[in-house]
Amino acid sequence: MRDAVPDAVPAAEPAAIPCPLCGAADVRAAYRVTRWKTPFDVARCVSCDLLHVNPRLPREHLDAYYDAAYYGGGADWHYADERKREAQVRVRAAGRLGRVERTLAAAGIGARRVVELGSAFGVFLDEARRRGWDVQGCEIAEASASHAEEVFGLRIHRADLADAGLPPASVDLVTGSEVVEHLAQPMRTFAAAHHVLAPGGIALFSTANERSVARLLRGGDWGYLMPGHVVLWSAATLRAALRRSGFIDVRVTAGDERGLRNFLEFRRAAGSGSRAAWLLRRLRVGDWTLGAGMVVTARKAGARP
Ligand SMILES: [Zn+2]
Repeated sequence: MRDAVPDAVPAAEPAAIPCPLCGAADVRAAYRVTRWKTPFDVARCVSCDLLHVNPRLPREHLDAYYDAAYYGGGADWHYADERKREAQVRVRAAGRLGRVERTLAAAGIGARRVVELGSAFGVFLDEARRRGWDVQGCEIAEASASHAEEVFGLRIHRADLADAGLPPASVDLVTGSEVVEHLAQPMRTFAAAHHVLAPGGIALFSTANERSVARLLRGGDWGYLMPGHVVLWSAATLRAALRRSGFIDVRVTAGDERGLRNFLEFRRAAGSGSRAAWLLRRLRVGDWTLGAGMVVTARKAGARP
C-alpha cells in the first residue's frame, strides 16, 4: 500500500501541514515548546493520533540542523558525538545485529546486506561489517558522512533512502538508531525501506515512545521535544505507519538490550547503569512504557526463491 501523503515540508514560512502519517488535515494543538532558539508547536492528529511538529518549520531551517555544528556542539541542539561513546554503540549494534541474524537464519536466509539510515560516523556499519555484513549508509550530514568514508572506508549515500537509488529487493536489513523521529516524510522513507528489502527482510528502528510516563509527566518540557524531531512516535503510531507501508510482524519492545548478557556488556562499555533501571525501562502496560526508549522490528512478507 502506497498512499500518497502530501509534501509535509513548507519551503519558506512555517506552515500547517497534513498529518505525516495519514494525511489528515485535522490536528489539535498539544504543546508549545519554547526552550530552544526557535520555538515550535507540537500537535496531535485527530484521525491517527500521531504527535508531530505542526506547523512545520521551513525546509531550509530543518536542513540547517545537520551542519557541522549539529555534531560539533555549536548548534542549538546537537547530537551526542558517537566517537566519544564508540564502545557503547558497538555493544548495542552487536545486540541488535545478533537478534536480526537469528531471525534471518530461522527463515532460512543466509544473506547479510544492511543499509543504515542516519549512519552518522559509521560505527554501527563498521561493527556490522566485522560480523560479515555487506554495508552501506544514508547520511545527510556531510561532516559525519565524510568521516565514515574516510576513517572506515564505508559507502555512504548523501540522501534519504527514498532518493538513494538502491535497487529493489537488494538488502536484508534496513535499520536506524534514533532517526525515524527526524524524517520529514516518514511514509515516503518507510515505503522505500519496504521497496529495497528482499522478501523476508527486516526493518529495525529505535526511537522514543511518546506514550511514556516520561512524556506524560514532563509535557512540553519532555526532553525528546527538540529541534529536528519532527515526528514523536508511539508504539501504536509507529506500528500503524509500518503496517500501512506494507510490513508484517510489526513488534515493539520497550528498552533496547534484550538479554542480560548484552545489558551487562553495555553497562561495562557505558561505565554506568543499574539492573533495576534496565528492568524498569522494559516495563510496559499495553503500549505505555515507563522509560521512553523503544525498538520496533518488522518484516517484509514473502520467501526467497
Ligand atoms: Zn494522522
